[in-house]
Amino acid sequence: MACKLLLKRKECIGAGQCEAISPQIWKVMGDGKAELRGATLNPKTGMYELVVDDALLKTQKIVAGSCPVGCISLEKS
Ligand code: SF4
Repeated sequence: MACKLLLKRKECIGAGQCEAISPQIWKVMGDGKAELRGATLNPKTGMYELVVDDALLKTQKIVAGSCPVGCISLEKS
């Protein structure tokens, strides 16, 4: 089942856990905030969204649980 990975980028403090766990789609950028590769910004919610498949889902649950400010979440899509 596909899920949507959500990033509230303005709340990111650049701690880097996401990139350490899953560097294939997470990277802390020069502005000190994480980028979720391939994600699109939802102008209604202000969140970046990326649909992830089952292969990525398990790791992204760990990523979401590791973010110290809780700015990463998962939602059924
Ligand atoms: S783990 Fe959270 S706070 Fe840390 S860089 Fe990633 S999104 Fe930002």
